[in-house]
Amino acid sequence: MSPALTLGEWLAAQDQVSPSQADPYDLQLAACHVLEFSRAQLIAHPEHKLDPALVRTLDGFATRLHAGEPLAYLFGSKEFWSLQLQVSPQVLIPRPETELLVELALAKATLPLSLNPTPTIVELGTGSGAISLALASELQGQGHVTLIATDSSAGAIAMAKANAKRLGLNVNFVQADWLAPFNNAIASMDLLISNPPYIAAKDPHLPALSFEPLSALVSGEDGLDAIRQICVQAAARLRPGGWLLLEHGYDQGQAVQKLLHNQGFQAVSTEADLAGLDRVTLGQQPNSADL
Ligand code: GLN
Repeated sequence: MSPALTLGEWLAAQDQVSPSQADPYDLQLAACHVLEFSRAQLIAHPEHKLDPALVRTLDGFATRLHAGEPLAYLFGSKEFWSLQLQVSPQVLIPRPETELLVELALAKATLPLSLNPTPTIVELGTGSGAISLALASELQGQGHVTLIATDSSAGAIAMAKANAKRLGLNVNFVQADWLAPFNNAIASMDLLISNPPYIAAKDPHLPALSFEPLSALVSGEDGLDAIRQICVQAAARLRPGGWLLLEHGYDQGQAVQKLLHNQGFQAVSTEADLAGLDRVTLGQQPNSADL
């Protein structure tokens, strides 16, 4: 019988795998998850013996990481805004930079709250529900905020609903293309937010994102097809004085500002994320008095 593999030997073997797209830190986190070890325990105990069944489980995770699959899909979960969200390959993995959109939406949400006792916030392309659930976790219990979120994917809506239920948060998730289900009669749409697909069809970064749903990433030749559609629909449906907030690529700030101006939005500005990159552009629907 061959001697059992030690943890140190298993980790060292992972360094030798080639080609590999695995981040060594992710490999350690996967091992921590399987062994139920803290990272400190993992590093402190290279002599820890692994029985063959455990090695098979570890190898299964490692193979997926070496192939470039994101850790969040291995675990089936990802933390966003301190919420633990379930994710699957049917939804985009929430990114830390998207927390900027949540922060800006919260800042604006306090405005309609003072103007309108029952504000409505609508999110388009919700995926796992991350943005709306983060907003719900902050705004629930503060007046009668209505949160509605759409996604064209049935799988995404099912995942978002499951996340809401598990977290005990109240968001109305609807399967729909952007604002299609809302007619002009909804005059009380106070805030419209979206992290839509915004990557150009031939962007060289796309191969690295091949495990995530293309429909959540790519939007036409210049990456702006979805944003163009949302700007037009938002201009027709947001209440006077309401705000549109859009996440976009680091080099799309100017283009998105232009799209908002073209639709008559005012006070248009672009905000940078923690990395200092242009990430969210926002604009206000003119008040009736300004028209
Ligand atoms: N921020 C994501 C990325 O570049 C893209 C998300 C999106 O298209 N909305 O990986």
